[in-house]
Amino acid sequence: MRHQCRRAHPLPRYAGRRFGQLAKLKGLFEDLFRVTGLDEKSRALAEVAEEVARCKKCRLWSSRTNPVPGHGNQDSDVVFVGEAPGYNEDLEGKPFVGTAGKFLDQLLSLAGLKRSEVFITNVLKCRPPGNRDPLPDEVEACGPYLDRQISIIRPKLVVCLGRHSASYVLSRGGVRVRSRAGGTSISTVRGQVFKARFNDLAFLVMPTYHPAAGLYNPKLKDVLMEDFASIGRVLRGIREGSIPI
Ligand code: URA
Ligand code: SF4
Repeated sequence: MRHQCRRAHPLPRYAGRRFGQLAKLKGLFEDLFRVTGLDEKSRALAEVAEEVARCKKCRLWSSRTNPVPGHGNQDSDVVFVGEAPGYNEDLEGKPFVGTAGKFLDQLLSLAGLKRSEVFITNVLKCRPPGNRDPLPDEVEACGPYLDRQISIIRPKLVVCLGRHSASYVLSRGGVRVRSRAGGTSISTVRGQVFKARFNDLAFLVMPTYHPAAGLYNPKLKDVLMEDFASIGRVLRGIREGSIPI
């Protein structure tokens, strides 16, 4: 009898068992990815970090101690973008760990944010020697890593720290703000909120001064503090739905 029954319904019984096993296996892998943190987003971000670690697309790989791909919460709705790693960041492989980073932590608290809640990265992932300004060909070579990080994280707000970051992110986000001199004037764009689009992603961009600028200029420090309080308000508006993206 049993044999006959099998012959009458060979495929559904067989397939049903197989699908059941596959579904169990899939669930097992999903659990494993959750436990190890290896979900789709973190795998994609880890891939960017691995490529950065192998990267020789510009001259900066040869003088760096460590690459600084970026660090923080991949599910954050806000991403902070600095200019490039400095001395301490190059030694530690993490962004904003030096004096400017300590000030950034204070500024984040004015926005009601903790560092562990947000994602922080830079336009350049390797330190320019002597902390010189990024060169245009370095920004062109390294920018796609930032583009990919933003596309993976899908933040609602990108905060640009300083002129180089503002210039790159606004231009990639399709926002045209040109000063008469040709570049992005940070004193003009700071504190403003721009609507940006990048591929299928819409987000807001808010540029402000680089925290290091606030450390040697008390006036800029006050402006930075105002801007971070405003970042907090903008984020609350986005989260509550009163500020559309
Ligand atoms: N300045 C930056 O722009 N980025 C850092 O990570 C540190 C200092
Ligand atoms: Fe590559 Fe960017 Fe480092 Fe240049 S700065 S070597 S493009 S990761």
